[in-house]
Amino acid sequence: MGFFDKLSENIANTSKDVAKKANEIAKVTGLNGQISSQESLIDGVFKEIGKLVYDNKDNIAGLDLSEVIGKIDAAKAEIERLKAEIRTVKGIKVCEQCGEEIADEVAFCPKCGAKAPVVEVPAEEAPAEEAAPVATCKNCGNPLEAGSAFCTGCGTKVEE
Ligand SMILES: [Zn+2]
Ligand SMILES: [Zn+2]
Repeated sequence: MGFFDKLSENIANTSKDVAKKANEIAKVTGLNGQISSQESLIDGVFKEIGKLVYDNKDNIAGLDLSEVIGKIDAAKAEIERLKAEIRTVKGIKVCEQCGEEIADEVAFCPKCGAKAPVVEVPAEEAPAEEAAPVATCKNCGNPLEAGSAFCTGCGTKVEE
């Protein structure tokens, strides 16, 4: 392949990456906007609950809040769904044990060492920009990211 072919190929790849990144940012911004509106909806329902309690102050025991509480539960569930969607767009998942956000492709949490849930990574995904690894795992040779307490490849505790 000639120099100019190679050059134009690189430019094409780079602009494809840039377009993908811009698309990802737009999606995440949109989803964050939806989370904000769910949050203000919850605030509104909290006010509604306060008013209901006040209006029924002489009969608090007879007050049925199940409907308004149901609205909050639904909004919270929607927020969790939106957050999961953001993680999918960004290619990250959450450690079930400590809540740390970790890359989809790691098998063990770098913070607590718990086995990470398996996420199907789309095959066309290009690997993320690689930071120079500071050390490798003694057990499996996996490169370790700075600050990791556990190997993301095998879950072995990292020794200082
Ligand atoms: Zn963890
Ligand atoms: Zn390892």
